[in-house]
Amino acid sequence: MNADARIANLPYTAIQEALASGEPVVAILPCGATEAHGPHLPLATDVIISEGIAAFALPKLEDKNIRTFVLPPLAYAPAEYAAEFKGTISISVGAARAVLLDIARSLKAQGFAVLALANSHFDPANVTMLREASETIAKDVGLKVAFADFTRRKLAEKLTDEFKSGACHAGQFETSLVIAARPELVDEAARAQAKDNPASLTEAFAKGAKTFKQAGGPQAYFGYPAKATGEEGVETYEKMSDALVEEILAKLKS
Ligand SMILES: [Zn+2]
Repeated sequence: MNADARIANLPYTAIQEALASGEPVVAILPCGATEAHGPHLPLATDVIISEGIAAFALPKLEDKNIRTFVLPPLAYAPAEYAAEFKGTISISVGAARAVLLDIARSLKAQGFAVLALANSHFDPANVTMLREASETIAKDVGLKVAFADFTRRKLAEKLTDEFKSGACHAGQFETSLVIAARPELVDEAARAQAKDNPASLTEAFAKGAKTFKQAGGPQAYFGYPAKATGEEGVETYEKMSDALVEEILAKLKS
């Protein structure tokens, strides 16, 4: 990621200068989780993927002369489906929502133009929270929110077949994205052992499953980790970052 885009690595004067320019300034918030992702992927998988989406979006925004900073990621989120697996840290919807609203208030007070949410943690409780909080932020805080919601059909259609099938937790889709960004964090021996698991998580959710195990994922993964490739990961980052940039541009024009 562009060294001068990570807000946490900069002195306050760099942000002050950007905000004083009179041009709109965008803040991207990578939304992740600390959650079990099979025996082969790290607990930080969703943080890594969301930071990857932000990293791919940056040069595209730079090309359009849009000043953008990337915030430190949200590493804690509602993650009850994975709570039975060690290492998962699930927080309440209320706590997650409160943090997000406070971040938005802080950005608004400083003069940021848009808060962009780069989310890859598709736990239904988390997605619902992000949708509702986005509306509240726009209405009550008065800050524009660009939320590329990949669980909506319009955006989901652009992604891979496995993603669309709903067998999309720590499978080919997410494993490819982690291979592309942090290959050293993928346990290749465990990946080789991870048999195909075509069980659809989204169908299981709809039928009332409350945990990954109930949904047919005894090892916290669904889909086809063995088929993952770094090339697919890069392709998916391109598509996801395109969608995020499109949302940001639309909000800047609105
Ligand atoms: Zn994930």
